[in-house]
Amino acid sequence: MTPTAEKTAPKISFVSLGCPKALVDSERIITRLRAEGYELTKRHEGADLVIVNTCGFLDSAKAESLEAIGTAMGENGKVIVTGCMGAEPEQIREAYPNVLSITGPQDYQSVMRAVHEAAPPAHDPFLDLVPEQGIKLTPRHYAYLKISEGCNNRCSFCIIPKLRGDLASRPVADVLREAERLVRSGVKELLVISQDTSAYGVDIKYAESVWTPAGGEARTVKARFYDLARELGGLGAWVRMHYVYPYPHVDQVIELMAEGAVLPYLDIPFQHASPSVLKAMKRPAHAEKTLDRIRRWREICPELGVRSTFIVGFPGETEADFELLLDWLDEAKLERVGCFKYEPVRGAPANDLGLALVPDEVKAERYRRFMERQQAISARILKNRVGKRLQVIVDEVVSTAGGFSARGRSKWDAPEIDGAVNLVSRRPLRVGDIVSAKIERADAYDLHGVVV
Ligand code: SF4
Repeated sequence: MTPTAEKTAPKISFVSLGCPKALVDSERIITRLRAEGYELTKRHEGADLVIVNTCGFLDSAKAESLEAIGTAMGENGKVIVTGCMGAEPEQIREAYPNVLSITGPQDYQSVMRAVHEAAPPAHDPFLDLVPEQGIKLTPRHYAYLKISEGCNNRCSFCIIPKLRGDLASRPVADVLREAERLVRSGVKELLVISQDTSAYGVDIKYAESVWTPAGGEARTVKARFYDLARELGGLGAWVRMHYVYPYPHVDQVIELMAEGAVLPYLDIPFQHASPSVLKAMKRPAHAEKTLDRIRRWREICPELGVRSTFIVGFPGETEADFELLLDWLDEAKLERVGCFKYEPVRGAPANDLGLALVPDEVKAERYRRFMERQQAISARILKNRVGKRLQVIVDEVVSTAGGFSARGRSKWDAPEIDGAVNLVSRRPLRVGDIVSAKIERADAYDLHGVVV
């Protein structure tokens, strides 16, 4: 072997599917790979092996995962599978008996063991290959901050607790150290994620840990949603809260939003509004009077934007339940909304509820009516922003004959899932800049404005 050949690092092609939580798992594995000197390649062909991080939440996601594994097997043949779908390996083994290894989510060690076996590292770890903040799959200016794994709830349509186990919160000082490192490395927006952010710390009895912010005094912080939000709010980046449930203690965090410490944005997956459907779904906080709570939050923080997701066509959903949901939408006037047609998930308790299934054509019709209703609400909300000056974080920039055009997001838009603000600017813009823009026009989902 020549000295040059000796130095050649194994190349790994990585496919990351699924939600932001899976993305964080991918980032951790990639960080490990880079730390050990592996190279990443975008092509399966010619790679030493392929890792597929799968999603197993819905049957459609499983189908997508199986397809990705199939492509990797066809184009490469040496494939390691990890992620949510790996927690139930039979389906994968049945379709692709020759995959090298299958592991569940967050099982970084097993993935690395399988990698070492299939493509041993070419040399000793070069830890300095890895930037301080790790390798991120998101653009440099925003990052997902995962504060816990698993979930203590048992929603009947969901198999996540089966796949990922009960809630396991990270010590608060660990989370804060990671957040501070990210901000120091140029991250302008932290997206706080988990399965149930409002439950943060319950499992570790809100354990205190000692955190010393850069240039500050050591202090004891409790692993509680409010305390975490307050500390994150002091780091100088936008802080966006995802997957929160409408519990009374969330009010305190809304006060932080009113003070400007964290973004006035709350991602709450309500899923439905009809009490009987919510009960059948076994949703957390299903008995809360959500409209009253939203009203109260808006009193505390008039700027608040709420985004949510809903499921239509859940077993047992009647026309009356659905109309109640539409009326609720009219009242709630949520800023951003996503909708899914119910799909049974293998292994989910909802399959055994014995409730009448909603026919596909009824689901499709309800989905259409839901989207139409929300589109009108969203258009009205966005129209009200015309003429206002908003802060916008820049995600993409292109230079044009007259200056620059850019795509960014307001405080009420999370990346990937919400709308955008399209900008024109005379002065140069960079990705990650937070600029002030005058809004000139709105359509159903996006705003258009000029940098001032
Ligand atoms: S809150 Fe419900 S839907 Fe979300 S992960 Fe937990 S059990 Fe699943």
